[in-house]
Amino acid sequence: MSETKKEHTIEEKQYLVRFNADTKSHLTVLDSDICLTKCPDKVCTIFCPAEVYKWENIRMHVGYEGCHECGSCRIGCPHQNIKWEYPKGGHGIIFRLG
Ligand code: SF4
Ligand code: SF4
Repeated sequence: MSETKKEHTIEEKQYLVRFNADTKSHLTVLDSDICLTKCPDKVCTIFCPAEVYKWENIRMHVGYEGCHECGSCRIGCPHQNIKWEYPKGGHGIIFRLG
């Protein structure tokens, strides 16, 4: 007998993670002018699965607390304008299994 595999929504998957946010961001947009003048598509707002990057008129808001530490922004920014480090030990994403 075949078993039907249940599809999970992104909200359900996100329920399986918790965050212990540091007070200091581990993500830095180095130069907002580059975002403003050289990156019309603001691609970090598209490729980040956690929607960490939000463009606010003339600058990038970085909601680092919800970062999934996937590392995509290390290579995804076409101008190498994001400095990415792992959060300090004991901080960042915590995966809950089951
Ligand atoms: S992808 Fe890079 S340059 Fe473009 S908006 Fe994001 S941080 Fe700025
Ligand atoms: S590491 Fe992944 S989740 Fe975190 S800000 Fe970069 S793209 Fe978003």
